[in-house]
Amino acid sequence: FVTNADIIAQEAQYTSGLYPKRPLAIVRGEGAHLYDAEGRMYIDCVGGQGAANLGHSHPAIVAAIREQAERLISCPEIFPNDVRAAYLAELAAALPFPSRIFLCNSGAEAVEAALKFARLLTGRPGIIATMRGFHGRTMGALSATWESKYREPFVPLVPEFSHVPYGNLDALRAAVGPQTAAVLVEPVQGEGGVRPAPDGYLAGVAEICAATGALLLVDEVQTGFGRTGKLFAIEHSGVTPDILILAKSIAAGVPMGAVALHERFGPLPPGTHGSTFGGNPLACAAARAALRVYREERIPEQAAAKGAWLLQALRDLNLPAVREVRGLGLLVGLELKSRSQPVIAALLDHGVLALPAGPNVLRLLPPLIIEQADLERVVAAIAAVLRSPLP
Ligand code: PMP
Repeated sequence: FVTNADIIAQEAQYTSGLYPKRPLAIVRGEGAHLYDAEGRMYIDCVGGQGAANLGHSHPAIVAAIREQAERLISCPEIFPNDVRAAYLAELAAALPFPSRIFLCNSGAEAVEAALKFARLLTGRPGIIATMRGFHGRTMGALSATWESKYREPFVPLVPEFSHVPYGNLDALRAAVGPQTAAVLVEPVQGEGGVRPAPDGYLAGVAEICAATGALLLVDEVQTGFGRTGKLFAIEHSGVTPDILILAKSIAAGVPMGAVALHERFGPLPPGTHGSTFGGNPLACAAARAALRVYREERIPEQAAAKGAWLLQALRDLNLPAVREVRGLGLLVGLELKSRSQPVIAALLDHGVLALPAGPNVLRLLPPLIIEQADLERVVAAIAAVLRSPLP
Protein backbone atom coordinates (compact mmCIF):
# COMPACT_ATOMS: atom_id res chain seq x y z
CA PHE A 1 0.00 0.00 0.00
CA VAL A 2 1.33 3.41 -0.90
CA THR A 3 -1.51 5.87 -0.50
CA ASN A 4 -4.60 6.31 1.65
CA ALA A 5 -6.64 5.79 -1.50
CA ASP A 6 -5.19 2.27 -2.07
CA ILE A 7 -6.21 1.13 1.40
CA ILE A 8 -9.60 2.83 1.29
CA ALA A 9 -10.40 1.18 -2.07
CA GLN A 10 -9.39 -2.32 -0.93
CA GLU A 11 -11.41 -2.06 2.28
CA ALA A 12 -14.39 -0.78 0.35
CA GLN A 13 -14.27 -3.87 -1.85
CA TYR A 14 -14.20 -6.46 0.95
CA THR A 15 -15.62 -5.08 4.21
CA SER A 16 -19.12 -5.73 5.46
CA GLY A 17 -20.19 -2.23 4.57
CA LEU A 18 -21.57 -1.64 8.06
CA TYR A 19 -19.37 1.34 8.84
CA PRO A 20 -19.54 4.75 7.22
CA LYS A 21 -15.79 5.16 6.66
CA ARG A 22 -13.70 8.27 7.18
CA PRO A 23 -11.61 9.31 4.16
CA LEU A 24 -8.22 8.33 5.60
CA ALA A 25 -6.32 5.13 6.39
CA ILE A 26 -4.62 4.85 9.77
CA VAL A 27 -1.38 2.87 9.84
CA ARG A 28 0.35 3.87 13.09
CA GLY A 29 -0.23 5.53 16.43
CA GLU A 30 1.86 7.01 19.21
CA GLY A 31 0.42 8.59 22.34
CA ALA A 32 -2.49 10.82 21.29
CA HIS A 33 -1.33 10.94 17.66
CA LEU A 34 -2.42 8.80 14.72
CA TYR A 35 -0.69 8.69 11.33
CA ASP A 36 -2.20 7.94 7.95
CA ALA A 37 -0.60 5.97 5.12
CA GLU A 38 0.97 9.12 3.68
CA GLY A 39 2.61 10.14 6.96
CA ARG A 40 0.14 12.84 7.96
CA MET A 41 -0.34 13.21 11.71
CA TYR A 42 -3.74 13.66 13.40
CA ILE A 43 -4.67 14.52 16.98
CA ASP A 44 -6.85 11.65 18.09
CA CYS A 45 -10.07 12.72 19.83
CA VAL A 46 -11.75 9.45 18.82
CA GLY A 47 -9.49 7.52 21.18
CA GLY A 48 -10.39 4.12 19.75
CA GLN A 49 -14.03 5.05 20.51
CA GLY A 50 -13.07 4.87 24.16
CA ALA A 51 -10.62 1.96 24.03
CA ALA A 52 -7.49 4.14 23.89
CA ASN A 53 -7.53 5.94 27.25
CA LEU A 54 -3.78 5.23 27.50
CA GLY A 55 -3.13 6.40 23.95
CA HIS A 56 -1.54 4.33 21.22
CA SER A 57 1.23 1.78 21.77
CA HIS A 58 1.99 2.83 25.34
CA PRO A 59 5.42 1.24 26.02
CA ALA A 60 4.26 -0.54 29.20
CA ILE A 61 1.36 -2.16 27.32
CA VAL A 62 3.53 -3.13 24.35
CA ALA A 63 6.09 -4.76 26.68
CA ALA A 64 3.41 -6.69 28.58
CA ILE A 65 1.77 -8.00 25.40
CA ARG A 66 5.13 -9.00 23.89
CA GLU A 67 6.27 -10.81 27.03
CA GLN A 68 2.96 -12.68 27.42
CA ALA A 69 2.71 -13.56 23.71
CA GLU A 70 6.02 -15.39 23.97
CA ARG A 71 4.81 -17.40 27.00
CA LEU A 72 1.10 -18.24 26.49
CA ILE A 73 -1.68 -16.71 24.39
CA SER A 74 -4.58 -19.14 24.66
CA CYS A 75 -5.92 -20.61 27.90
CA PRO A 76 -9.67 -21.11 28.41
CA GLU A 77 -11.11 -20.54 31.86
CA ILE A 78 -11.49 -24.26 32.55
CA PHE A 79 -7.78 -24.03 33.40
CA PRO A 80 -6.73 -21.66 36.17
CA ASN A 81 -3.94 -19.43 34.87
CA ASP A 82 -1.24 -17.34 36.58
CA VAL A 83 -1.83 -14.06 34.73
CA ARG A 84 -5.61 -14.32 35.07
CA ALA A 85 -5.39 -15.09 38.79
CA ALA A 86 -3.15 -12.08 39.30
CA TYR A 87 -5.37 -9.82 37.24
CA LEU A 88 -8.61 -10.87 38.94
CA ALA A 89 -7.15 -10.00 42.33
CA GLU A 90 -5.76 -6.68 41.09
CA LEU A 91 -8.99 -5.63 39.36
CA ALA A 92 -11.03 -6.68 42.42
CA ALA A 93 -8.80 -4.50 44.58
CA ALA A 94 -9.30 -1.53 42.23
CA LEU A 95 -13.10 -1.88 42.06
CA PRO A 96 -15.23 0.28 44.38
CA PHE A 97 -16.94 -2.74 45.98
CA PRO A 98 -15.97 -6.35 46.84
CA SER A 99 -16.59 -8.47 43.75
CA ARG A 100 -16.41 -11.62 41.72
CA ILE A 101 -15.54 -11.04 38.08
CA PHE A 102 -16.58 -12.59 34.76
CA LEU A 103 -14.19 -11.85 31.90
CA CYS A 104 -15.24 -11.60 28.25
CA ASN A 105 -14.20 -9.75 25.10
CA SER A 106 -16.25 -6.62 24.43
CA GLY A 107 -18.74 -4.15 25.80
CA ALA A 108 -21.79 -5.80 24.26
CA GLU A 109 -20.65 -9.19 25.58
CA ALA A 110 -20.25 -7.76 29.06
CA VAL A 111 -23.72 -6.16 28.91
CA GLU A 112 -25.19 -9.39 27.57
CA ALA A 113 -23.64 -11.36 30.44
CA ALA A 114 -24.78 -8.82 33.04
CA LEU A 115 -28.39 -9.05 31.77
CA LYS A 116 -28.28 -12.83 32.02
CA PHE A 117 -26.77 -12.67 35.51
CA ALA A 118 -29.53 -10.29 36.63
CA ARG A 119 -32.22 -12.71 35.48
CA LEU A 120 -30.32 -15.63 36.99
CA LEU A 121 -29.83 -13.96 40.37
CA THR A 122 -33.35 -12.55 40.77
CA GLY A 123 -35.45 -15.11 38.90
CA ARG A 124 -37.26 -12.11 37.37
CA PRO A 125 -37.47 -11.19 33.65
CA GLY A 126 -37.83 -7.39 33.55
CA ILE A 127 -35.02 -5.07 32.48
CA ILE A 128 -35.44 -1.29 32.67
CA ALA A 129 -32.97 0.81 30.69
CA THR A 130 -32.99 4.51 29.86
CA MET A 131 -34.01 6.64 26.90
CA ARG A 132 -30.91 7.71 24.92
CA GLY A 133 -29.01 4.83 26.58
CA PHE A 134 -26.54 2.80 24.53
CA HIS A 135 -25.39 -0.67 25.54
CA GLY A 136 -24.28 -2.46 22.37
CA ARG A 137 -25.55 -4.27 19.28
CA THR A 138 -26.08 -7.93 20.21
CA MET A 139 -29.71 -8.93 20.75
CA GLY A 140 -29.81 -8.49 24.54
CA ALA A 141 -27.65 -5.38 24.59
CA LEU A 142 -29.63 -3.99 21.66
CA SER A 143 -32.87 -4.60 23.53
CA ALA A 144 -31.50 -2.33 26.26
CA THR A 145 -30.27 0.27 23.74
CA TRP A 146 -32.78 2.99 23.05
CA GLU A 147 -32.12 4.47 19.59
CA SER A 148 -34.82 3.20 17.23
CA LYS A 149 -32.66 3.26 14.09
CA TYR A 150 -30.41 0.63 15.72
CA ARG A 151 -33.39 -1.46 16.91
CA GLU A 152 -36.05 -1.32 14.23
CA PRO A 153 -34.50 -3.56 11.55
CA PHE A 154 -34.08 -6.33 14.12
CA VAL A 155 -37.43 -6.64 15.87
CA PRO A 156 -38.69 -8.65 17.64
CA LEU A 157 -36.04 -8.03 20.29
CA VAL A 158 -35.78 -9.70 23.71
CA PRO A 159 -39.07 -9.48 25.65
CA GLU A 160 -39.55 -7.62 28.95
CA PHE A 161 -37.24 -4.68 28.24
CA SER A 162 -38.50 -1.12 28.75
CA HIS A 163 -37.04 2.40 28.77
CA VAL A 164 -37.57 5.35 31.11
CA PRO A 165 -36.33 8.94 30.70
CA TYR A 166 -32.74 9.30 31.95
CA GLY A 167 -32.55 11.45 35.05
CA ASN A 168 -36.21 11.04 36.02
CA LEU A 169 -36.67 9.15 39.30
CA ASP A 170 -40.48 9.40 39.36
CA ALA A 171 -40.69 7.68 35.97
CA LEU A 172 -38.38 4.95 37.22
CA ARG A 173 -40.34 4.51 40.45
CA ALA A 174 -43.51 4.06 38.38
CA ALA A 175 -41.87 1.53 36.06
CA VAL A 176 -40.16 -0.75 38.59
CA GLY A 177 -42.23 -3.69 39.81
CA PRO A 178 -41.97 -7.10 41.44
CA GLN A 179 -40.96 -8.60 38.07
CA THR A 180 -38.07 -6.17 37.52
CA ALA A 181 -34.72 -7.98 37.51
CA ALA A 182 -32.55 -4.95 36.88
CA VAL A 183 -32.22 -1.27 36.14
CA LEU A 184 -29.38 -0.60 33.66
CA VAL A 185 -27.80 2.89 33.53
CA GLU A 186 -24.71 4.71 32.30
CA PRO A 187 -23.17 7.18 34.79
CA VAL A 188 -22.75 9.52 31.81
CA GLN A 189 -24.69 8.71 28.66
CA GLY A 190 -21.97 8.57 26.02
CA GLU A 191 -23.39 7.65 22.61
CA GLY A 192 -26.69 9.27 23.62
CA GLY A 193 -25.17 12.76 23.57
CA VAL A 194 -22.62 13.04 26.44
CA ARG A 195 -25.15 13.55 29.24
CA PRO A 196 -23.81 13.27 32.80
CA ALA A 197 -26.25 11.92 35.39
CA PRO A 198 -27.97 14.78 37.23
CA ASP A 199 -26.88 15.22 40.89
CA GLY A 200 -28.47 12.60 43.10
CA TYR A 201 -29.87 10.57 40.21
CA LEU A 202 -27.70 7.47 40.62
CA ALA A 203 -28.24 7.47 44.40
CA GLY A 204 -31.98 7.68 43.74
CA VAL A 205 -31.82 4.79 41.27
CA ALA A 206 -29.90 2.73 43.84
CA GLU A 207 -32.54 3.50 46.46
CA ILE A 208 -35.39 2.44 44.17
CA CYS A 209 -33.53 -0.76 43.31
CA ALA A 210 -32.86 -1.58 46.97
CA ALA A 211 -36.51 -0.99 47.88
CA THR A 212 -37.85 -3.28 45.14
CA GLY A 213 -35.22 -6.01 44.93
CA ALA A 214 -34.18 -5.00 41.40
CA LEU A 215 -30.44 -5.08 40.76
CA LEU A 216 -28.55 -1.91 39.83
CA LEU A 217 -26.48 -2.56 36.69
CA VAL A 218 -24.04 0.24 35.90
CA ASP A 219 -22.61 0.31 32.36
CA GLU A 220 -19.12 1.85 32.58
CA VAL A 221 -17.98 0.56 29.20
CA GLN A 222 -17.35 4.15 28.04
CA THR A 223 -16.93 5.95 31.39
CA GLY A 224 -14.58 3.47 33.08
CA PHE A 225 -10.80 3.48 33.52
CA GLY A 226 -10.22 7.12 34.25
CA ARG A 227 -12.27 8.73 31.50
CA THR A 228 -14.42 10.89 33.80
CA GLY A 229 -11.71 11.82 36.32
CA LYS A 230 -12.14 8.82 38.63
CA LEU A 231 -11.05 5.26 37.85
CA PHE A 232 -14.81 4.48 37.68
CA ALA A 233 -17.44 7.17 37.10
CA ILE A 234 -19.73 5.64 39.70
CA GLU A 235 -17.21 6.80 42.32
CA HIS A 236 -18.37 10.41 41.75
CA SER A 237 -21.75 9.39 43.22
CA GLY A 238 -20.69 7.15 46.11
CA VAL A 239 -23.25 4.59 44.89
CA THR A 240 -22.47 0.86 45.08
CA PRO A 241 -23.86 -1.03 42.08
CA ASP A 242 -24.86 -4.68 42.23
CA ILE A 243 -23.19 -5.30 38.89
CA LEU A 244 -20.57 -3.14 37.13
CA ILE A 245 -19.99 -3.54 33.38
CA LEU A 246 -16.56 -2.78 31.89
CA ALA A 247 -14.80 -2.97 28.51
CA LYS A 248 -13.15 -0.54 26.03
CA SER A 249 -10.04 0.75 27.85
CA ILE A 250 -9.87 -2.10 30.38
CA ALA A 251 -6.90 -3.66 28.53
CA ALA A 252 -5.65 -0.48 26.82
CA GLY A 253 -7.05 -1.44 23.42
CA VAL A 254 -6.74 -5.23 23.51
CA PRO A 255 -10.28 -6.66 23.25
CA MET A 256 -11.65 -7.40 26.70
CA GLY A 257 -14.80 -6.95 28.75
CA ALA A 258 -15.61 -7.64 32.37
CA VAL A 259 -18.64 -7.95 34.61
CA ALA A 260 -18.08 -7.36 38.32
CA LEU A 261 -20.75 -8.82 40.58
CA HIS A 262 -21.06 -7.81 44.20
CA GLU A 263 -19.48 -10.57 46.33
CA ARG A 264 -22.69 -10.97 48.34
CA PHE A 265 -24.15 -12.94 45.39
CA GLY A 266 -21.47 -15.61 45.81
CA PRO A 267 -20.32 -17.74 42.86
CA LEU A 268 -22.69 -18.22 39.90
CA PRO A 269 -24.02 -21.69 39.05
CA PRO A 270 -21.39 -23.50 36.92
CA GLY A 271 -22.16 -23.72 33.22
CA THR A 272 -24.78 -20.95 33.08
CA HIS A 273 -22.59 -18.69 30.91
CA GLY A 274 -19.15 -18.71 29.30
CA SER A 275 -16.73 -17.58 26.59
CA THR A 276 -13.85 -19.27 24.76
CA PHE A 277 -11.63 -16.19 24.69
CA GLY A 278 -12.83 -14.71 28.01
CA GLY A 279 -9.97 -14.26 30.47
CA ASN A 280 -7.30 -15.20 27.94
CA PRO A 281 -3.73 -14.59 29.16
CA LEU A 282 -2.87 -12.05 26.46
CA ALA A 283 -5.78 -9.76 27.37
CA CYS A 284 -5.14 -10.29 31.09
CA ALA A 285 -1.48 -9.33 30.68
CA ALA A 286 -2.45 -6.15 28.83
CA ALA A 287 -5.11 -5.37 31.44
CA ARG A 288 -2.65 -5.89 34.31
CA ALA A 289 -0.20 -3.49 32.71
CA ALA A 290 -3.01 -1.02 32.00
CA LEU A 291 -4.20 -1.07 35.62
CA ARG A 292 -0.63 -0.38 36.76
CA VAL A 293 -0.37 2.58 34.38
CA TYR A 294 -3.76 3.99 35.47
CA ARG A 295 -2.42 4.06 39.01
CA GLU A 296 1.25 4.98 38.50
CA GLU A 297 0.64 7.75 35.99
CA ARG A 298 -2.36 9.03 37.95
CA ILE A 299 -4.47 8.79 34.79
CA PRO A 300 -7.86 9.61 36.41
CA GLU A 301 -6.36 12.73 38.02
CA GLN A 302 -4.93 13.73 34.63
CA ALA A 303 -8.37 13.28 33.04
CA ALA A 304 -9.99 15.39 35.74
CA ALA A 305 -7.55 18.29 35.31
CA LYS A 306 -7.41 18.18 31.51
CA GLY A 307 -11.17 17.72 31.23
CA ALA A 308 -11.86 20.73 33.47
CA TRP A 309 -9.48 22.83 31.36
CA LEU A 310 -11.03 21.64 28.07
CA LEU A 311 -14.63 22.25 29.20
CA GLN A 312 -13.73 25.78 30.32
CA ALA A 313 -11.74 26.54 27.17
CA LEU A 314 -14.62 25.39 24.95
CA ARG A 315 -17.17 27.37 26.97
CA ASP A 316 -14.94 30.47 26.87
CA LEU A 317 -15.06 30.39 23.05
CA ASN A 318 -18.72 31.44 23.31
CA LEU A 319 -19.43 29.95 19.90
CA PRO A 320 -22.84 30.93 18.50
CA ALA A 321 -22.99 27.53 16.73
CA VAL A 322 -22.90 25.73 20.10
CA ARG A 323 -25.96 25.25 22.29
CA GLU A 324 -24.16 23.65 25.24
CA VAL A 325 -20.75 22.32 26.23
CA ARG A 326 -20.99 19.49 28.76
CA GLY A 327 -19.10 16.51 30.09
CA LEU A 328 -17.25 14.93 32.96
CA GLY A 329 -13.47 14.55 32.93
CA LEU A 330 -12.30 13.98 29.36
CA LEU A 331 -15.70 12.77 28.14
CA VAL A 332 -16.74 16.01 26.48
CA GLY A 333 -19.63 16.92 24.21
CA LEU A 334 -20.59 20.05 22.31
CA GLU A 335 -24.29 20.17 21.51
CA LEU A 336 -24.46 22.02 18.22
CA LYS A 337 -27.35 23.93 16.67
CA SER A 338 -26.75 21.93 13.49
CA ARG A 339 -25.62 18.44 12.50
CA SER A 340 -22.31 17.22 13.87
CA GLN A 341 -21.22 15.26 10.79
CA PRO A 342 -20.07 18.24 8.62
CA VAL A 343 -18.18 19.62 11.62
CA ILE A 344 -16.36 16.30 12.07
CA ALA A 345 -15.44 16.30 8.37
CA ALA A 346 -14.13 19.87 8.61
CA LEU A 347 -12.08 19.04 11.72
CA LEU A 348 -10.33 16.33 9.75
CA ASP A 349 -8.93 19.04 7.47
CA HIS A 350 -7.47 20.64 10.60
CA GLY A 351 -5.86 17.34 11.59
CA VAL A 352 -8.31 16.55 14.39
CA LEU A 353 -10.27 13.29 14.60
CA ALA A 354 -13.57 13.53 16.50
CA LEU A 355 -16.81 11.60 17.00
CA PRO A 356 -20.54 12.27 16.91
CA ALA A 357 -22.86 11.37 19.81
CA GLY A 358 -26.25 11.48 18.16
CA PRO A 359 -27.10 13.77 15.25
CA ASN A 360 -26.06 17.13 16.72
CA VAL A 361 -23.46 16.45 19.41
CA LEU A 362 -19.73 16.60 18.71
CA ARG A 363 -17.95 14.21 21.10
CA LEU A 364 -14.30 14.33 22.13
CA LEU A 365 -12.74 11.16 23.58
CA PRO A 366 -9.00 11.92 23.49
CA PRO A 367 -6.51 9.57 25.14
CA LEU A 368 -6.22 10.70 28.76
CA ILE A 369 -2.46 11.10 28.29
CA ILE A 370 -3.00 13.84 25.66
CA GLU A 371 -0.65 16.79 26.10
CA GLN A 372 -1.77 20.35 26.80
CA ALA A 373 -0.37 21.63 23.48
CA ASP A 374 -2.57 19.14 21.61
CA LEU A 375 -5.65 20.11 23.63
CA GLU A 376 -4.98 23.73 22.70
CA ARG A 377 -4.74 22.78 19.02
CA VAL A 378 -8.05 20.92 19.30
CA VAL A 379 -9.75 23.97 20.83
CA ALA A 380 -8.29 26.21 18.11
CA ALA A 381 -9.46 23.82 15.37
CA ILE A 382 -12.99 23.66 16.81
CA ALA A 383 -13.09 27.45 17.04
CA ALA A 384 -11.90 27.82 13.43
CA VAL A 385 -14.39 25.27 12.10
CA LEU A 386 -17.41 26.50 14.04
CA ARG A 387 -16.70 30.15 13.24
CA SER A 388 -16.62 29.55 9.49
CA PRO A 389 -19.62 28.68 7.33
CA LEU A 390 -20.04 24.92 6.87
CA PRO A 391 -20.99 23.30 3.57
N1 PMP B 1 -22.03 0.25 26.54
C1 PMP B 1 -21.63 1.51 26.33
C2 PMP B 1 -21.95 2.54 27.36
C3 PMP B 1 -20.92 1.85 25.17
O1 PMP B 1 -20.54 3.12 24.97
C4 PMP B 1 -20.62 0.84 24.23
C5 PMP B 1 -19.85 1.13 22.95
N2 PMP B 1 -19.90 2.40 22.48
C6 PMP B 1 -21.06 -0.46 24.48
C7 PMP B 1 -21.75 -0.73 25.65
C8 PMP B 1 -20.79 -1.58 23.51
O2 PMP B 1 -19.43 -1.91 23.49
P1 PMP B 1 -18.82 -2.76 22.28
O3 PMP B 1 -18.80 -1.86 21.09
O4 PMP B 1 -17.44 -3.13 22.77
O5 PMP B 1 -19.68 -3.94 22.08
